[in-house]
Amino acid sequence: MGRCTRRRFIAPRRVVSWPSASRGRAAGDGAAAQARDAAAAPAGAAASRDTRPMDFGISGKWALVCAASKGLGKGCAAALAAEGVNVVVTARGVEALEATAAELRARHPGLEVRAAAGDITTPAGRAAALEACPQVDILVNNAGGPPPGDFRDWDRDDWLRALDANMLAPIELIRAALDPMLARGFGRIVNITSSAVKAPIATLGLSNGARSGLTGFVAGLARQTGGRNVTMNNLLPGPFATDRLEATLAAAARASGRALDELRAERARQNPAGRFGTPEEFGAVCAFLCSTQAGYLNGQNLLLDGGAFPGTF
Ligand code: NAD
Repeated sequence: MGRCTRRRFIAPRRVVSWPSASRGRAAGDGAAAQARDAAAAPAGAAASRDTRPMDFGISGKWALVCAASKGLGKGCAAALAAEGVNVVVTARGVEALEATAAELRARHPGLEVRAAAGDITTPAGRAAALEACPQVDILVNNAGGPPPGDFRDWDRDDWLRALDANMLAPIELIRAALDPMLARGFGRIVNITSSAVKAPIATLGLSNGARSGLTGFVAGLARQTGGRNVTMNNLLPGPFATDRLEATLAAAARASGRALDELRAERARQNPAGRFGTPEEFGAVCAFLCSTQAGYLNGQNLLLDGGAFPGTF
């Protein structure tokens, strides 16, 4: 096969970078901006076009990101803000929440960043969150995970707490946000669940059960909304370096009598990536799910675990 023939089949290299250069652009002007970029490029500057960052087309929209003062929620809020999205962040602890909001404002002075303190598993917490958000174009559902343990020790109240946090609170927020999204013809809902939905973790029965309930509900609803450009998907984290993981590791170290550092290093080594994920990596995937480009990606459960799940699918 001659050189020229081979070349014809090589796709142009495309570099996608986050955060995108769309920051600060008005909503919906992504295509126009790309056309401007192309016009401004010197004739024959293919390399410049090839390395143009992807514009997610969500600049100027509003996102409600729950449980976002730290960890994965914060990673999502930061990645959306980097795409030019105005964000409302929620958490129970006012101090950490205000610090996160201040950090995002400092990084993105052109954006509106609002903090709504409250427990998202309660009606009052959800009302405060919704009130702070002029319109929910993007909803990221998140809350703390239930404690580990043995199911023999859990009574009805333990189950109700887990269901409230990891199933019913997200469903209530979807109920509040969905119809306006359908009416506007745009909506992105991302639920942070857990790899435990796909591969149950024995000690996390409350999490396995409650999150699977949400997963089943979302699977049914997503098929009714995608036709109006409202998508909903679940992001399933494996081990990510956050306070939650530290707390889980500390509990495991205490229970086994092993040194925390040693246990942490061993768990990281056991992952095919040789490390834990970062909130920034998690947030970047969340932002992509919220992009205009992801409009055909709906009703899915996306596992982010460094390849730890050993299945082909
Ligand atoms: P984290 O402890 O680092 O952060 C949790 C955030 O949620 C904090 O901002 C906290 O203030 C807020 N929060 C907790 N409960 C809340 C409530 N009721 N109302 C409002 N805000 C609340 O946790 P994380 O690691 O970012 O985990 C986020 C979710 O992902 C949890 O449900 C967790 O169980 C799940 N998860 C995490 C991992 C991991 O490795 N980090 C793995 C699987 C699942």
